[in-house]
Amino acid sequence: MDFELNEEQKMLQEIGRRFAEKEMTPYLKDFENRREVNFDLIQKMANLGFIGIHIPKEYGGAGMDYLSAVVLWEQLSIASWTQTLISIGHGILAGTILLKVANEDQKQKLLTPLCKGEKVIAVATVEPNAGSDARSIECKAELDGEHWVINGTKNFISAGGIADTIIVLVQTDKNLGPKGMALLYLDKNCEGFSSKRSDLIGDRAGDVATLYFSNCKVPKGNMIGEIGRGLQNALIGIDTARLFLSAGGIGIAQSCLDAAIKYSKERKQFGKPLAGFQMIQSKIARLYIRLSSARLQVYYAASLKDKKLPHAKELSAAKLLSTELAVDASTEAIRIFGAYGCSDEYPVAHHYLDSILSNILGGTREMHELTIGKELLDINAMY
Ligand SMILES: Cc1cc2nc3c(=O)[nH]c(=O)nc-3n(C[C@H](O)[C@H](O)[C@H](O)COP(=O)(O)OP(=O)(O)OC[C@H]3O[C@@H](n4cnc5c(N)ncnc54)[C@H](O)[C@@H]3O)c2cc1C
Repeated sequence: MDFELNEEQKMLQEIGRRFAEKEMTPYLKDFENRREVNFDLIQKMANLGFIGIHIPKEYGGAGMDYLSAVVLWEQLSIASWTQTLISIGHGILAGTILLKVANEDQKQKLLTPLCKGEKVIAVATVEPNAGSDARSIECKAELDGEHWVINGTKNFISAGGIADTIIVLVQTDKNLGPKGMALLYLDKNCEGFSSKRSDLIGDRAGDVATLYFSNCKVPKGNMIGEIGRGLQNALIGIDTARLFLSAGGIGIAQSCLDAAIKYSKERKQFGKPLAGFQMIQSKIARLYIRLSSARLQVYYAASLKDKKLPHAKELSAAKLLSTELAVDASTEAIRIFGAYGCSDEYPVAHHYLDSILSNILGGTREMHELTIGKELLDINAMY
């Protein structure tokens, strides 16, 4: 295995780093304080090809491989993982589904505008009674002539409140279980559709929402893929989202490590810099060790995905390692900063609040352990 970045990837890393420093960090506090989404940022990311980084150029993307995408996502998350999520997360989740499953007409109508930053597209699978257990969704779609009529609720949907279009996982016949599931898309102006922002810890400049569908009528042609493959097709997007979340975890951890090193050299107690105390060095060394190994696992999962090789357990390991590291790194950084780390004066408090979220979406720790266990033991302990 060789994860030496090539010249193009090194350049992308530098572009991402500079963009984060210039376009994200200076505005973060302002948008977080106002609890507002930075729409300019979405457009700036689109202009640079960040939204569709892994989408072919013919659909307005940048046509890069997953390892390159990871390198960029990591740099952007150093500034703010949740700002990265709200700006380009829909390109990763919805973009992948549209690329891999939608017909040509739908690609032109949805994927190209998404890559250009003209449309935000959310993907809604999770419901109040169906989180990890996606097979038990209740949101239903019934056929009425040439239309599907959607009724149900989806919650914790990224970009749900700002999306122009929503791709929604529906059940067309509950007796069929997953074989009755399908993906339908609808416009935010569809009669009967409404949303309400969720008040979460972290994600202060983001948008996660509950979506309500009350007799929402959509044409039959709004089905993406076919009935019976809705869940598998959603999981195609979720697979890429997991890679993004893994890159985000290492970005958060890198930011916390950098900040802790800088601060511990500046802050003096007992007559010398904190960095001169062995216990502080131990914390920093341990963060470095965990970050280095998590990054390798994330790059490895990306390279397997690039080669179209099986990567379920490797990606689950990457997601689990990196997002748990993000929580631990931000907690440890706050300990090194003391009370100052709890304020927005330093770049660790916002990571602390955001990192716990990254543990949950894209599958919880337990779900990823079950995925790894299933492959190693050849027993599905979930169903
Ligand atoms: C910031 C954020 C953004 C999100 N964005 C989206 C989005 O865009 N679209 C979308 O559809 N969803 C989204 N989600 C929802 C997310 O996918 C779910 O929260 C996640 O799948 C877990 O579901 P749940 O929260 O209902 O937890 P539950 O499934 O109720 O799980 C609760 C706990 O029980 C554990 N558990 C459950 N089953 C088992 C089991 N069999 N064995 C052991 N432990 C188990 C879980 O691991 C977890 O610890 C988002 C969530 C967050 C926080």
